[in-house]
Amino acid sequence: MADTPVRKICKGCRSETVTRDAWAEWDVERQEWVLGSLFDYAFCHNCASRTQIEDVAV
Ligand SMILES: [Zn+2]
Repeated sequence: MADTPVRKICKGCRSETVTRDAWAEWDVERQEWVLGSLFDYAFCHNCASRTQIEDVAV
């Protein structure tokens, strides 16, 4: 875990509307979907294309 809180932003347009690809796995005990595997694929919804995510201090 990072000590300093960060924002995840698009390297292209600097917006925060970025998401990562992941698998959600069903948890029977909690009766909800929980985050399973997280993949490297990052998408910026502002650029509407694949991007790279950059960490910046909050
Ligand atoms: Zn972008």
